[in-house]
Amino acid sequence: MNANLYALFASRFPADQSACCIETHDGQYYTWGDVERASARIANLLSSLNLPSGARIAVQVEKSPEALILYLATLRAGFVYLPLNTAYRSAEIEYFIGDAEPAVFVCSPKNFGWVAQIAFKAGTQHLFTLDEIGSAGYGRNSGSLLARAMHYSDQFETVEKQADDLAVILYTSGTTGRSKGAMLSHGNIGSNAKVLQQYWHWQADDVLLHALPLFHIHGLLVAANGALLNGSKMIFLPKFDAAEVCRHLPRSSVFMGVPTYYVRLLADSAFGRDTCRNVRLFISGSAPLLADTFTEFSARTGHTILERYGMSETAMLTSNPYDGERRGCTVGMPLPGVSLRLMRSDEAGHSSLCGPDEIGDIQVKGPNVFQGYWRMPEKTAEEFTADGYFKTGDVGKFDRDGYLAIVGRSKDLIISGGYNVYPKEIETVLDDIDGVLESAVIGVPHADFGEAVTAVIVKRPNAKLTTGGVIELLKSTIANFKVPKQVFFAEELPRNTMGKVQKNVLRELYAMPAA
Ligand code: ATP
Ligand code: MG
Repeated sequence: MNANLYALFASRFPADQSACCIETHDGQYYTWGDVERASARIANLLSSLNLPSGARIAVQVEKSPEALILYLATLRAGFVYLPLNTAYRSAEIEYFIGDAEPAVFVCSPKNFGWVAQIAFKAGTQHLFTLDEIGSAGYGRNSGSLLARAMHYSDQFETVEKQADDLAVILYTSGTTGRSKGAMLSHGNIGSNAKVLQQYWHWQADDVLLHALPLFHIHGLLVAANGALLNGSKMIFLPKFDAAEVCRHLPRSSVFMGVPTYYVRLLADSAFGRDTCRNVRLFISGSAPLLADTFTEFSARTGHTILERYGMSETAMLTSNPYDGERRGCTVGMPLPGVSLRLMRSDEAGHSSLCGPDEIGDIQVKGPNVFQGYWRMPEKTAEEFTADGYFKTGDVGKFDRDGYLAIVGRSKDLIISGGYNVYPKEIETVLDDIDGVLESAVIGVPHADFGEAVTAVIVKRPNAKLTTGGVIELLKSTIANFKVPKQVFFAEELPRNTMGKVQKNVLRELYAMPAA
């Protein structure tokens, strides 16, 4: 059987080819037949370029149905899809082109000038623009992928692939350092999509409101793949906008978002029970969902957000249950097929399994775990244990009922005066203080302590908080070695496009002046 991911999707497409696959925010429709024919044309074009097998098709384009079709065409033609964050500019694109050496680069027409300079210098063989079918430039721009594709047949036989052949390279979000290319195979992605379809009870008549970007695991491999595998319609928003989400939610049954989306929805007074009347499932991930957001959301809408956990390297790992209790501040249980363990190391470097409520490093194994980091064999080898578990770099603990809570990233763990301090624990205490909207706790280098616990707080409007007051309050709540040595107030926390707090930026901003 052909293990090509596209073949898996196509085997589940609805029998009625004229049913809607993608509806755009401005009312354009793409049927399943349209998607199949358009992806065939592009797959034919890509195949005509005589690229070697394993060639990377790098894509940095605005979100559109055509961008999703290009993803499908790349899979069909058997090449490796490599999406890039639309926020990246010349320095980043130069790095990614140099690192990934794509044979084809597809960019937005508006970026053609500067991308061309970089691509040609790097020896990229083919540079195309992707304009949307509805746009004025369509068919006229000679570099247009779609205009070129129109000269090719709308029939294409999906290329045969094995389960462990490479399908997608996803660069990680770069939250802890330079982005690494995670190599995911057809089998990695397909097996995870099938598990999620069952676990989240995808229904025949589901409609997904898709507001996430397409260049990241969440929007591409969790959201879009979920709908594609289930043969469900997607309503595509070009980007998240609370008012637009409120406008389309009443016709939707599934919504997925990063925590910031939920915070922004709650800030919109138009959002409430009525907006959510047809929604069956709200899912959150990519960053921790605050307890307040979880509780307020349920009070306002009657819906309990289902939080899940995953990463570019592994796709989804855990999820709160669909039917059972969805517990706030936890990411639920390991998904079927995922073996997840928590390990602690003693001073001699021996590791052993953690018990309930004990904090440890999260390690995972399963058909979803990636093939390694692109062109980083040493790094890949370092991140796997001798018995084949991948070290996620996240730290967590299981409660007595088997729900996993993410405590933070091992890179963010603070060691102050020889004691381990878990930022999440202190952030939770800070967030409970009246007047605190949110907080981030980091370690900054300190001559005496090694690292000094440092808190950055965003106040609620009109809150009367002082740094001294916060420190005093903490002294009566947590052990002294955990109490921040310094507290700063900030207007907002620096976040990347996936809503993740960039602690490395904070560590630089709040580094202590050299003594
Ligand atoms: P980089 O690896 O480049 O530093 P990144 O880890 O942020 O960036 P991604 O692969 O996009 O890149 O994100 C995966 C990470 O996101 C996980 O390792 C975890 O730290 C975090 N994450 C995902 N879901 C959740 C969640 N529900 N709660 C807390 N953290 C989460
Ligand atoms: Mg990571």
